[in-house]
Formats: sequence, C-alpha cells, structure tokens
Amino acid sequence: MQYRQFQGGREYLLRLENGRDWRGQIEELADEEEIDAAWFNGMGASKDATLWFYDQDTKEYLPVEFDEPFEVAMAVGNISFLDGERFAHTHVLLTREDGSTVGGHLDSATAFAGEVYLRELEGRVEREHDPEVTDLDLWSDDSLSR
Ligand code: ZN
Repeated sequence: MQYRQFQGGREYLLRLENGRDWRGQIEELADEEEIDAAWFNGMGASKDATLWFYDQDTKEYLPVEFDEPFEVAMAVGNISFLDGERFAHTHVLLTREDGSTVGGHLDSATAFAGEVYLRELEGRVEREHDPEVTDLDLWSDDSLSR
C-alpha cells in the first residue's frame, strides 16, 4: 500500500455532448483545463459500450462490445498521465430496460447524454508499467511519494 495526501483543487460540472465518446470528453476537459490529477463521477446514458475485462491469468484485456442503449447508472474514474497523455481511467455500471446490468472498465461508449462532476487534485499523477506482478499501468511510486 502506498499513499500521498493531495489538496483538492478546482471543481467542474461537465455536460457531455450527444454522439461523442464518454471518456474522450472527460479527457478533453482535462486537457483544456490542464488538470493533471483528478477524481470524477458521472451518470447519464450511452448508445453502446466497449468494456475491457482484465484477465488476471493471461494478463490481457479482453474487449466486450455491446451495441445497445444503456443507462449509465454510475461512472467513476480518475485522471492521470499514461505515456505522457492525460488518461481518464473510467469504470461504469450500465443498465438495460429490464434492469439487468453490465459493468467494468470502460474503453469507449457513445454518449447519449451525461453529467460528470470532477474534482481536481493539486499535483500530477503518472502511470507506470508494473511488469512484475499485475502487468498493468499503475500509479507510479514517484507520484505517490511527496
Ligand atoms: Zn480499469
């Protein structure tokens, strides 16, 4: 376990635009406002979704594509740098008309509508590849030790 205290920074409300990517619009906000670390949550609806399931044995992301409308019951995520670019690591819980759900790591989804609250954290968080244990791009030691 590793942690670091951050001071809260600016707060934003973001209304997503119909027809554009859910995650991409959050990254666009972060780029425009030069937000280097943040936590966010959101809700709304999407026209489709591609989720990535991480197989812990093979250490590969397996894409799962859904071509159907969903309610985005909940989206949660954070902003950090991945390979020098701002990346919105986003997880979602999506619901259908009958109340059934799918959820997980969001790669992409075409927004129908969306409302996002984002809180900047004053600092910069970088991701670093962890080749030993998880094979994931995790928050770096450096980012969490100041
Ligand atoms: Zn994830």
